[in-house]
Amino acid sequence: MADNSPIRLVIHGGAGTIVRNKLTAEREQAYRQALTQSLIAGHAVLAAGGSSMDAVIASIVVMEDLPLFNAGKGAVFNHTGHNELEASIMEGATRMAGAVAGITTIRNPIRAAHAVMTKSAHVMLIGQGAETFAAEQGLEIVDPSYFYTQHRWDQLQKAIARESILRDHDTDPGTPLPDVNEKRGTVGAVALDCYGNLAAGTSTGGLTNKRYGRVGDSSIIGAGTYADNRSAAVSATGTGEMFIRTAAAFNTAAQVRLQHIPIAEAADNTLTEIAAIGGDGGLIVLDTSGNYAMRFNTSGMYHGTIGNDGIAWTGIFSETLAQITDSSAAFPPSQQT
Ligand code: ASP
Repeated sequence: MADNSPIRLVIHGGAGTIVRNKLTAEREQAYRQALTQSLIAGHAVLAAGGSSMDAVIASIVVMEDLPLFNAGKGAVFNHTGHNELEASIMEGATRMAGAVAGITTIRNPIRAAHAVMTKSAHVMLIGQGAETFAAEQGLEIVDPSYFYTQHRWDQLQKAIARESILRDHDTDPGTPLPDVNEKRGTVGAVALDCYGNLAAGTSTGGLTNKRYGRVGDSSIIGAGTYADNRSAAVSATGTGEMFIRTAAAFNTAAQVRLQHIPIAEAADNTLTEIAAIGGDGGLIVLDTSGNYAMRFNTSGMYHGTIGNDGIAWTGIFSETLAQITDSSAAFPPSQQT
């Protein structure tokens, strides 16, 4: 590995109406610490000469295991009071991909998505079949109660009472949910390894009070996740149905490859398309030169990045919108205030 080859990891922990003045210092710190932990885990892989794929998995597993995020432990409940999880992963060099959806017993859905990619002839497995496959591959299977958290349960009861379907970080437009600070989000990561290869992954519990069987963008290759060394690696968070309808992740990468549009502008174009049909959210994008963008049209998105120097940088609000960095630009501060 060439010492000067760029490595880069960019992550998100969900976008939505994160209200700045209701986010306590403690909660903000907890999120920043969690994001940093995820960044450091992925960076350790990249710095040791590991693959972008393994870095994406390492960083997402950290967030799946923390109840702060709506993925793995901490996933939201569907209408019938179950946690139905989904995830997807894609490799930019080969455009191989894997995904799982409608799963209730796999501790780390991102590992299952990776197993589908590497150990099966398929791209997507759902429900019982995905769970049987994951068990056969030796992945950790848990009782569905593993995913139960009181906070999520309370969130579901409120959503049912209001007949609303809530994205994780959203507050109901009517009466806000009691503690917006405790909203938690879908997670995603994009990585560039020292061999110049990209990877992307996304994992979620979906939307609170979603119909059973509902699948969002997070497990759909081209909607929530896409990676292609010829363009970019992309992971999305937001109103899943609109991200599916706009093929958001592929859409963004395709603008870069076919129209040579800069990555940040491509992400904004996609978000504008999504807004035009009533959706919102965010996108993280990374190319093989190490250029990256973290864009969102919601009030906030938990996000962060780390590169060769190993300094973890995290952000939540829109002040970071301007911080689109290319590989030659100054590195952002290690911790944003
Ligand atoms: N995109 C996810 C979904 O629709 C939700 C989110 O990103 O918060 O399932």
